[in-house]
Amino acid sequence: MQLTPRAKPVDRSPMTFLESLYLWNIIKGMGITIKHMFLKKATIQYPEEKRPFSPVFRGLHVLNRDAEGRENCTACGLCAVACPAEAITMEAAERLPGEEKLYREEKYAAKYEINMLRCIFCGFCEEACPKDAVYLSQTFAPANYARNGFIYGKHELLIPHPIEQPEAYQKALGDRQPSSQNVNQPIA
Ligand code: SF4
Ligand code: SF4
Repeated sequence: MQLTPRAKPVDRSPMTFLESLYLWNIIKGMGITIKHMFLKKATIQYPEEKRPFSPVFRGLHVLNRDAEGRENCTACGLCAVACPAEAITMEAAERLPGEEKLYREEKYAAKYEINMLRCIFCGFCEEACPKDAVYLSQTFAPANYARNGFIYGKHELLIPHPIEQPEAYQKALGDRQPSSQNVNQPIA
């Protein structure tokens, strides 16, 4: 019984002497190899060379600061609630007098962790955040041998300080515009 109309009958007749030398098949195969030597190569020299990502690529998370270097996150927990993978954990703390230059709001995330092994890079946390405090960048989490290495804390997630480390800040920002939210808001 024929299962599909695309099935081709196999020629089972014995090979001739010329066919048994496989010369023509070897020439055909070499032709394909030589043709590919002159075609544009699909491989790149990673990590020196990197492929451009799609503009909608969602990579590693970044905890954002405002233009004055204050942390945007107010530890409201909306990102954690929106996360379908339950990858985000945080602990809130009250801003103390004298810390106005560190944290933009009265409350801030003393601890903020994302488990990259759970994360599915859906971007819901970014969409849920009312403070432009977390976004998914155009880089991805590097490989690691230990599971703990995939739990990113504030130290790994926080964007460099825009005034103290302007070059690193610009590099981390990439094509993204600096956070403009409440930039001109007077420090309480
Ligand atoms: S990208 Fe999605 S899965 Fe990952 S932390 Fe954000 S909400 Fe959770
Ligand atoms: S990152 Fe945004 S949504 Fe998440 S706790 Fe901070 S302010 Fe709230």
